Amino acid sequence: MSNILVTRSSMPDYSEYCEEIKKLWDSHWLTNMGIEHKTLQYELEKYLDCPHVVLYTNGHLALENVIAAMQFKPGSEVVTTPFTFASTTHAIVRNGLVPIFCDVNDYDYTIDVDKIEALITDKTVAIVPVHVYGNICDVERIQSIADKHNLKVIYDAAHAFAVKYKGVSSANFGDASMFSFHATKVFNTIEGGAVCFKDDTLVSIMNDMKNFGIRGPERVVFVGGNAKMNEFQAAMGICNLRHLDDEITKRKKVMERYRQHLENTEGIKLCKERDNVESNYAYFPVVFDGYKYSRNVVFERLAEKGIGARKYFYPITNSFECYVDYPTAGVEKTPVAAYLADRVLTLPMYADLELSDVDRICDIIKR
Ligand SMILES: *Cc1c(COP(=O)(O)O)cnc(C)c1O
Repeated sequence: MSNILVTRSSMPDYSEYCEEIKKLWDSHWLTNMGIEHKTLQYELEKYLDCPHVVLYTNGHLALENVIAAMQFKPGSEVVTTPFTFASTTHAIVRNGLVPIFCDVNDYDYTIDVDKIEALITDKTVAIVPVHVYGNICDVERIQSIADKHNLKVIYDAAHAFAVKYKGVSSANFGDASMFSFHATKVFNTIEGGAVCFKDDTLVSIMNDMKNFGIRGPERVVFVGGNAKMNEFQAAMGICNLRHLDDEITKRKKVMERYRQHLENTEGIKLCKERDNVESNYAYFPVVFDGYKYSRNVVFERLAEKGIGARKYFYPITNSFECYVDYPTAGVEKTPVAAYLADRVLTLPMYADLELSDVDRICDIIKR
């Protein structure tokens, strides 16, 4: 039997992509906000129902840039969670800010809103929560805490493209949201990302920052970097977007099949879905909580059978060796995140995963 990877990138038909990039051979315009870039931006603003989408070469630089755009005083504190990909914490630290780690809840593994206020000091400037696995944070409580303490809210929404809460697109919460369009994400532009927001005054700042801070032919207004999305990435996005809703429908079927097999299995905990969330089914996390085998044993057994699962998120960012000297690091400060990180496994999840393969994966786990 063939191997099953933990994910498989969505791709359009070869001919569809070729058709889309043909015009680049006429124009010789390969990057710097060409026609594909403009088209994708427009399509995404419509799809996400968000006034402003700024495209990036990857999600990480998008997040770094939007934090930079807020121009916080160096050394300021940002409340975030360690139950995320390295990118979130690095984006904060690389901006000269101090990550203050808040624990997650054990319901949908997003930031525990009951623990945020105790971490706020007179140095706190922002909250950077993470919408993990396609779940949505408690955006209402987060916003009311932010309003009360005059803080910015920037979502790491890398996992939450096309997710809605109470019918509202995930692009519209907080002051800004970052999406990743990496090859492994639900929607990909090979590599890529975006920052979405409503504030008109951020548009030119974000656009300049990704292009060396250049505002005009003879004007440079920021110490910006280079984080532009190129035309081939944008073309991939235009094609993939056409098929995205179908892909999410297929992912939902995969998720439902997994749930049928694994729900109500002793020692296996599945992520809860918050009411009113329309998910994108980005990942299928399973927590081995007192199961007959530990997470690591299940991981090895699946690997022996050629099935890729992922310890995601493990290790959590407040245990990274690059942060050992940080006074705010240490997994003991976030016991729920630490508990989950030791027990969670994300199982193979992609639109074209055969339901018979889901059956096989669940059989191996249960045997
Ligand atoms: C993928 C991911 C990122 C980084 O996005 P890239 O496009 O790979 O740079 C950031 N945060 C989270 C939670 C992610 O999963």
